[in-house]
Amino acid sequence: MANVTQTPLNPGDSPLVREALSSVVSRETPATTQPAVTQPAAEQPAATQRGGTSGDGDNAWPRPAKCRVIAVANQKGGVGKTTTSVNIAAALSMHGQRVLVVDLDPQGNASTALATEHRGDVPDVYQVLVDDLPMVEIVKQVPEMPNLYCAPATIDLAGAEIELVSLVAREARLRRALAAYEAEFDYIVIDCPPSLGLLTVNALVAAEEVMIPIQCEYYALEGLGQLLRNVDLIKAHLNPALRLSTIVLTMYDGRTRLASQVADEVRSHFGETVLKTVIPRSVRLSEAPSYGQSVMTYDPGSSGAMAYMDAAREIAHRATVA
Ligand code: ADP
Ligand code: MG
Repeated sequence: MANVTQTPLNPGDSPLVREALSSVVSRETPATTQPAVTQPAAEQPAATQRGGTSGDGDNAWPRPAKCRVIAVANQKGGVGKTTTSVNIAAALSMHGQRVLVVDLDPQGNASTALATEHRGDVPDVYQVLVDDLPMVEIVKQVPEMPNLYCAPATIDLAGAEIELVSLVAREARLRRALAAYEAEFDYIVIDCPPSLGLLTVNALVAAEEVMIPIQCEYYALEGLGQLLRNVDLIKAHLNPALRLSTIVLTMYDGRTRLASQVADEVRSHFGETVLKTVIPRSVRLSEAPSYGQSVMTYDPGSSGAMAYMDAAREIAHRATVA
């Protein structure tokens, strides 16, 4: 495919983008053009209270009637899956939601960002998936974040992709493990690895919602069609409840035409599925994990923190079921 620096781009004219999007255009809502800027979403009164409070008084966010399990997936690496999982989860937890992040990437980046031990003999998601260890045995509360919990991944999880192949109900092992645990949480956010293998399949079978981060650059659309076809296959055969609920545009650089072209193109095809809030490029977002923090506590006033707070607010106010 053409190199970005050599070829003037109009993503809409690209065979690649057409290919990436062709399988979904027909069943999506009509295009609505929205401004590609970060706007604070309007606060609304809490619609669904599931008992108890939900945070900051007038700014209370609605608690879902039942746990929303969201798989954050994109087989492309480096598009912002982990950053999105961690910061959306942190933002939700700071507004009274009880949130579990399941780290399903052997690299353990989400565990690192949430200061959750994931080296050595720490029991992890691998043991849940392969050895049937109950989820409760591995979940840890995130330091300084009372409503936020993490199920860590160690490097052992790299072996699960192969070991799962021979196990009974290999696609549904995460779903089973979470089923016993969902009542504890308002949200379970699953940070997927950069592949479409059995780990991601487990996430898509366990979830009702798929959230896809799309980096606002050209190659980011590559493979999107394949991911969406996988979602359709899993919906057809393994998990009828699954739906693409959310697309979030990440690493948006307002100075480039390409970023706004990609954003416009994605919006024109996916309509309301795309969050109004766009996540800008922000150095603070990339610094926070090395301090074992989300950006919400590392630098709450930064543009990245405010954008993820707005994105989380939008998600919280969206209907839980289509
Ligand atoms: P993935 O989980 O899809 O591989 P990450 O969330 O790990 O992607 O992001 C890849 C890299 O980009 C990380 O170093 C992360 O800190 C950085 N990053 C992610 N989002 C942003 C952003 N909006 N601005 C700046 N850096 C970002
Ligand atoms: Mg990641």
